[in-house]
Amino acid sequence: MTRLLHRAIRGTMPVAIGGAGITLNDADGKSYIDASGGAAVSCLGHGHPDVIAALHRQADRLAYAHTGFFTSEPAEALAERLIEDAPPGISHVYLVSGGSEAVEAALKMARQYFVEKGEPQRRHIIARRQSYHGNTLGALAAGGNELRRAQFKPLLIETHHIDPCYAYRLQKPGESDQAYAARAAQQLEDKIIELGPDQVIAFVAETVVGATAGAVPPVADYLARIRSICDRYGILLILDEVMCGMGRTGTLHACTQDGVAPDLMTLAKGLGAGYQPIGAVLLSQHIFDAFAGGSGFFQHGHTYMGHPMAAAAALAVQDVIRRDNLLANVAAIGAELDRRLQERFADHRHVGDIRGRGLFRGLELVADRATKQTFNPALKLHARVKQAAMAHGLMVYAMGGTIDGRHGDHVLLAPPFIVTRADIEV
Ligand code: PLP
Repeated sequence: MTRLLHRAIRGTMPVAIGGAGITLNDADGKSYIDASGGAAVSCLGHGHPDVIAALHRQADRLAYAHTGFFTSEPAEALAERLIEDAPPGISHVYLVSGGSEAVEAALKMARQYFVEKGEPQRRHIIARRQSYHGNTLGALAAGGNELRRAQFKPLLIETHHIDPCYAYRLQKPGESDQAYAARAAQQLEDKIIELGPDQVIAFVAETVVGATAGAVPPVADYLARIRSICDRYGILLILDEVMCGMGRTGTLHACTQDGVAPDLMTLAKGLGAGYQPIGAVLLSQHIFDAFAGGSGFFQHGHTYMGHPMAAAAALAVQDVIRRDNLLANVAAIGAELDRRLQERFADHRHVGDIRGRGLFRGLELVADRATKQTFNPALKLHARVKQAAMAHGLMVYAMGGTIDGRHGDHVLLAPPFIVTRADIEV
């Protein structure tokens, strides 16, 4: 009997004891192809010697120093590196221990920014229905996954949700991408006007939607319109790239492909590639300036923020990605993966949509392709798919998510960036 409280209390989990490259091994001697990087985390695969060596070096030198007393070399170096490669306007980095912490920090930073600017009346966060921003209370309030939120609603701050940009279900027949982008983005402007533009803090969205919908990219022009609406009303744009960022879509930041830069960006998962828990908030110069010229203090902080071991791991991950030109591999193998998924599943009667960017690909499962009818939630199809894949030694991220208030099932593939053409043939 285990004393560890698992996510699912009934049933047993295999015990992971090792891994190399795209493979994980359990204590019973079974091996699994990690086709999802866990939950889009393990972007360098398992047991990467350069990251492990960097961790050894850092542990020998310094494991921990509290950020209330010290900064550290790896944290400073990681911040430098992230700014070198950041979207335009981004000037500083705040380091935390994961995605939910990054979202919490970004929301609080956005709120304090307006306090620093003498606009303390601003209190509304706008987000989207089909989204996941983390499981802590602020992040859960911003998220739009009703399955995860429902029982905690009394504890959640009030947030406001508009529709996602979700072409498969929400684009009208015959409607151009341009027209759909305009219609979807208009919801943000309408919501801002409804709440009062001087009452709104920020709009938060995943650049490419991950956990609730399986790699749904925005249509062309959507994010550019969102950016200009935020600018028109003086509202901050927070892009959550915890899952889709750090190279997953073939560019370091997914929003680069949309030609858009946010005011705040959240990162985690692939940042440390699972070698250490780490997340980050990238913030733009004008936000930094408001703090620097105001109170001079961000009223936030966690004991493990800027952790030297985590920063050293993340820096080593970034070094490997750069040295081995892995983003080119993500783009090339990602395109090949898409081609093969289309070849195999485009006509499958239970696959409604195949989508994504780079090595971030999603399949939406439907009971009926013609009507896009979802499966009965009681079937828990996604859980069965995950279980069946595991039985065959394959890890895929299969999740249910609410779509327009209905249940949906999708499968997310997010293999490590080191994956080869031969690997995806299997
Ligand atoms: N934001 C997004 C887009 C995510 O996909 C996730 C996790 O799946 C989070 C935030 C929360 O990250 P974490 O699980 O590291 O707290």
